Amino acid sequence: MDCMKVKGSIVVVSGPSGSGKTSLARAVCEEMGDKAYFSISTTTRAKREGEVDGVDYFFVSKEEFLKDIEDGYFLEWAEVHGNFYGTSKKQINEALNQGKIVFLDIDVQGHEAVRKAYPDIVTSVFVTTKDKNTLIERLQKRGTENEESIEVRMINALHEMKKIPEYDFLLINDDFDKAKEFLKGVALSSLIKTSKYDIDKFINCWKGN
Ligand code: 5GP
Repeated sequence: MDCMKVKGSIVVVSGPSGSGKTSLARAVCEEMGDKAYFSISTTTRAKREGEVDGVDYFFVSKEEFLKDIEDGYFLEWAEVHGNFYGTSKKQINEALNQGKIVFLDIDVQGHEAVRKAYPDIVTSVFVTTKDKNTLIERLQKRGTENEESIEVRMINALHEMKKIPEYDFLLINDDFDKAKEFLKGVALSSLIKTSKYDIDKFINCWKGN
C-alpha cells in the first residue's frame, strides 16, 4: 500500500551564520546514513580555507551561476551576503523519489521558495544561539570572517530572526548533542507528516477496496 504523494521529505535548516546549523544538519545526515541526503549548494562565494569543491559547495563563477539559472538548473536561488547561492533540482528529486530525507541548508528566502514548491513535504527548523553575543563569539572563534563580514552577518541575522514564525521549529543550539537529537527527531517525523499522504487513497486501501 503506497499512499504517499511523495516518498521522501525535505528538512530545511536555516539560521544565522555561526548558529551551527550546517554542522548539525551534516551530523544528523551522517548518522542516518542512506536514509538521508544532504544537498550541496552551488555558490559564487569565494572558497574558505579548508573547504572542498563538491563537498561543501560547488564553487562557480558568477557567469556559470547565471547560465545555470537560465538553464533552469535550480529549484531555488538567492543572493545572500552579496553572493549567489542555489539548490539544484535534479539531485533533490532523485533523493525524494528514493524516499530519502533531504536536508537543505538554505537561508530564509530559500525556505520561502522551497515551501512554495513543495508545500506538503517541507518541515523547517530555524537554528540559532541563545543570544547575540554567543553568535559573535562563535564567528570570531571560527576565524573565517573578518570584522566587516561579521558585521554584515549580524545585521542579516536580525533580519532572518524576524522570519522565525514562518518555521515549524525553533532550535536553540546551546548544547550540540542535545540539538542534534532534536533535529534527528524532527527529521524522522517529517517522513510521516499527514500532508504527505493521499488520505482518501489511504482510507480506501485501509478498508480493503
Ligand atoms: P555561508 O557563506 O556561510 O556558507 O552561507 C551563507 C548563507 O547562505 C547561509 O545562511 C546558508 O544557509 C545560505 N545558503 C547556502 N546555500 C544556499 C542555497 O542553495 N540557497 C539559499 N537560498 N541559501 C543558501
